[in-house]
Amino acid sequence: MRPDLVRALRLLLLCAVLSSATLVRAQDSGDKPPTGMTIHVVQRGETLFRIAQRYGTTVEDLARLNGIRNPAMLSVGQRLLVPSAPVQAEDAAIGIPTSYTLQIGDTLFKLAATFGTTEAAIARRNRITNPRQMYIGQRIELQEGSEGVRSIKTGWIHRVARGETLYHIAARYSASASLIQSVNRPRRPDLLYIGQPLVIPADENSFPLTDLPAPLARFEMTPAEQGRTSALRIVTLQPTQLEITFMGRPVTVFSDEARVTHVALLGIDALAKPSIYPLRVVSTAQDGVQRTFEWRVQVADGGYRSETITLTAEQMDLLNPAITQPEEQRVRQVVSAITPRRHFGGLMGLPCAAPVTSPFGTRRSYNGGALNTIHAGADFAALPGAAVYAPAAGVVVLAEPLIVRGNAVIIDHGWGIFTGYWHLESLNVRAGALVQAGDVIGAVGSSGRSTGPHLHWELFVQGVQVDPLQWTKQSFP
Ligand SMILES: [Zn+2]
Repeated sequence: MRPDLVRALRLLLLCAVLSSATLVRAQDSGDKPPTGMTIHVVQRGETLFRIAQRYGTTVEDLARLNGIRNPAMLSVGQRLLVPSAPVQAEDAAIGIPTSYTLQIGDTLFKLAATFGTTEAAIARRNRITNPRQMYIGQRIELQEGSEGVRSIKTGWIHRVARGETLYHIAARYSASASLIQSVNRPRRPDLLYIGQPLVIPADENSFPLTDLPAPLARFEMTPAEQGRTSALRIVTLQPTQLEITFMGRPVTVFSDEARVTHVALLGIDALAKPSIYPLRVVSTAQDGVQRTFEWRVQVADGGYRSETITLTAEQMDLLNPAITQPEEQRVRQVVSAITPRRHFGGLMGLPCAAPVTSPFGTRRSYNGGALNTIHAGADFAALPGAAVYAPAAGVVVLAEPLIVRGNAVIIDHGWGIFTGYWHLESLNVRAGALVQAGDVIGAVGSSGRSTGPHLHWELFVQGVQVDPLQWTKQSFP
């Protein structure tokens, strides 16, 4: 056999062993991509999202560039135009940050690859004994390093293109430059030659986590805090059904018609201990294949004050569970419904044109007892008879006098979001009425167990009472 053929076969064999994906540069394929562009040949198991991540671009841009209508329909061998960032000399000296905040999908491997160090070095520096206990929002201290080179089980073969540096190649594969260097042992790492094959090591288990594992394409979560609402938005690559559990509670997920965009609103109990809680996502694809993902999410302290309320024996009697419990159960039952029709959108308005005198979440102790209750709403100091407005559209599901809450209104805004208005002087609406934002639903009063005229406003997210004022400053997806 001809020696060059033997060499080619040997290389082919090496490729088969080492690579699950081969990056084909323009000069290999014979195609002439436009300036600033490269051709990528789709490999088995690749998604548009993964390709976009590899080239530092977005699914939307790749789809537009290649006229792809359905990103889920990629075929193996398909050629895609991808932008290739011009290589600058400065690329060889990428700055390494000294700290980093953990995001969804991060692993020690990804951090090590991104910041040119090793998993062991990061773990040691941050005293991480169990990587499973890392959580979103965790601050990681970093230091550049190249100790502890690992053995390689799988990887990619990359052929060096004109102008590429080791750092540029490392960045493209989210791999560590020092690791690539130690594996390939180039004589002059500063002088790579065009067409030079480089083995890009990849950890068989961890590498897929450098992006999100299929079918997840995008994962966004707003900060989780005691007594506040956190929004979770997930985009999947194909129609998927998601089941989410957070802090041990199942959370209802709302998906679009195509079942690729999914939103969940998480109400976080104001009395929940600030800590790290598991967020579990179970995805079920159209073919019935299920996958389970688990992340650790930090629930931050809500910064609430505490107060002691002194009551006389007679007033204490008003807290008698025999009186408060049946009403509490009634309200709980009303706000536990989850209506799939969404009425809210954008910021909520304020229900009353008056200052807030007592915010949501203040811890309360009665007569020096334990701080185990909270002020479950926001109080507006309005004059008796002042108008109370619906802050968003919805359906009135309760409008009647109650013993503790007085004349009460509860509006169902859909998706398990309810608002409650207590101690009203009069009611302007009946149960079953559809209201729009700004409609007058009643007048401020002091009915029920109230010490003076005020509006007490509450908001429930799938049964959990949270700060309603957050919804007047932040809109949810
Ligand atoms: Zn109140």
